[in-house]
Amino acid sequence: MSARGGIDLGGTKIQAVVVNGRGTVIGDARHQTPANGGPPAVTAEMAAALGEAAAAAGVETSSLVSVGVGSPGVIDAAAGTVASARNLNDWIEPFPLAAELSKAVGGAPVSLGNDVSVATDAEFKLGAGKPYKSVLGVFWGTGVGGGIVLNGKPWNGRGAAAEIGHIVVKKDGARCPCGREGCLEAYAGRGSMEAKARREAEQGRKTDLFKIMEKKGRTRLTSGVWAKAIDDGDELAIELVDRAISYLGAGIGSAVNLLDPEAVVIGGGLGVRFGQPYVERIRQAMMPHVFADERPPEVLLAALGDLGGATGAALLRPERPKPARRSVGDGARSRARR
Ligand SMILES: [Zn+2]
Repeated sequence: MSARGGIDLGGTKIQAVVVNGRGTVIGDARHQTPANGGPPAVTAEMAAALGEAAAAAGVETSSLVSVGVGSPGVIDAAAGTVASARNLNDWIEPFPLAAELSKAVGGAPVSLGNDVSVATDAEFKLGAGKPYKSVLGVFWGTGVGGGIVLNGKPWNGRGAAAEIGHIVVKKDGARCPCGREGCLEAYAGRGSMEAKARREAEQGRKTDLFKIMEKKGRTRLTSGVWAKAIDDGDELAIELVDRAISYLGAGIGSAVNLLDPEAVVIGGGLGVRFGQPYVERIRQAMMPHVFADERPPEVLLAALGDLGGATGAALLRPERPKPARRSVGDGARSRARR
């Protein structure tokens, strides 16, 4: 059986899957991302999660044809390293993740890809983007990540394309986690939304967001916390999500004007949690900004849900060693999305 492994490495969780030859998930497991111990601890946890997914699928990790990893940070796929993964503990210098993980899972070859690029690829090949040749993936989570497929091929630019979260939606606007001002992520990223909610609460604004967080035993405003607060009619939560949607509409509309894709696929922690009604709201917020508004793109919910990133990673193929590509070089990039 030609089973392959895929791992979506996120700041809060590690999602592992094992897929069969057709890309169908036959086993999956989710672990918390270790908050201590740096890259070696994270690598060990990734191996444990993959082992569990493989056991669920009835295979040994050592028998996997390949293992792919969708990772945040700056990835050098040829060298097999990840650097500047700022949402992960103590992970700044390049770490040989491909070699170390391969060792930890019994020798299967490990390939690395960018987390949102592989998730877009999965939606394009197996999910909501399947009927189309050009797709813009938008991953609404801790940050706002993007992926582009043009004429059936992923477009990565020189390695830093599709950073839709850092499209400027307001000149001299709010400060973004990347250090710049007015980026889409500064308004729509869950991390930025949480920071804004905290400032408002400290200034005496009434909200149950943080009470719900504690009740759920969380230390951050997760997608589930936002969803519950909105269900409860929390005014601040509703206001901040409305604001995020309005800016997502502007940012996505601008990207659509530039690329003219057939479809926009909305995923990510918040995108998947809020689901179809919010995809429709994002579409409505996008429309006033679309230039060719008589034939706008389809705006669709990611069909692979939470497993899209890991499934896309499983589609990665080991590449033959070749000279290292020019590195992206911008350590402030933040591609995390959950
Ligand atoms: Zn930014």
